[in-house]
Amino acid sequence: MHILLMGPPGAGKGTQAAKLVEEFKVPHISTGDMFRAAVKNQTELGKKAKACMDQGKLVPDDVTIGIVKERLSQPDCKKGFILDGFPRTVEQAKALDKIIAELGLKLTGALNINVPAQDLIERAVGRRICKKCGETYHIKFKKSLKEGICDVCGGQLYQRADDSEETMKNRLAVYDEQTKPLIAYYKNAGLYKEIDGRQSMDKVYGDVVAVLRG
Ligand code: ADP
Ligand code: ADP
Ligand code: ZN
Repeated sequence: MHILLMGPPGAGKGTQAAKLVEEFKVPHISTGDMFRAAVKNQTELGKKAKACMDQGKLVPDDVTIGIVKERLSQPDCKKGFILDGFPRTVEQAKALDKIIAELGLKLTGALNINVPAQDLIERAVGRRICKKCGETYHIKFKKSLKEGICDVCGGQLYQRADDSEETMKNRLAVYDEQTKPLIAYYKNAGLYKEIDGRQSMDKVYGDVVAVLRG
């Protein structure tokens, strides 16, 4: 299972990826998570990524492609992977094709989780993440039992700096301009599958699995 989870910011890619990882035991590769870890650890990569992320812009293609190439070359990706949030530009998609061919792998599908823009803002602005274990919550759609505390590990929940309404507007504009063209790209490649992301998390997951089982 070598799949892409596409879809606009806040659509539910990470939520679905977490469920898939549990069931299918393949690595979850999220460029957003990799960049956030780099920013936290103040690495060179983090320094390059931070300004772009804070403004809701994409990190430059060469930087992003470089980290993905390195990650996909690890042996655990042979049996499968879930790429979440990559590719986000046609340039990245072309580079991915090349990387995958070099590794002797094949993409199984490109799943696009589709959610209307007004819902995306509500989803992103209400998103909360555990500082310790990364579990994702929502103040309305997936509440933790104790406000601000992770059910899984007791860690503190935080809000991503880029999950403000203002930055979300930029991220959605960037998505329309730079990422939407990937729909045609993967339709052309015969890999495109659309998932209705307006449903409950469990229903979306049911559809994702149905699509994967073909
Ligand atoms: P979301 O899940 O809300 O779509 P991500 O965690 O995937 O957000 O991404 C957060 C930020 O990290 C993006 O706004 C962008 O700045 C950067 N980023 C993540 N993936 C990519 C990518 N493939 N190309 C360029 N920038 C990226
Ligand atoms: P992405 O990785 O695409 O940015 P997330 O999986 O982090 O999106 O989801 C964004 C926010 O929306 C999170 O707070 C999550 O709990 C919530 N969410 C995810 N899927 C759904 C859904 N089907 N219905 C309602 N809220 C959802
Ligand atoms: Zn936790």
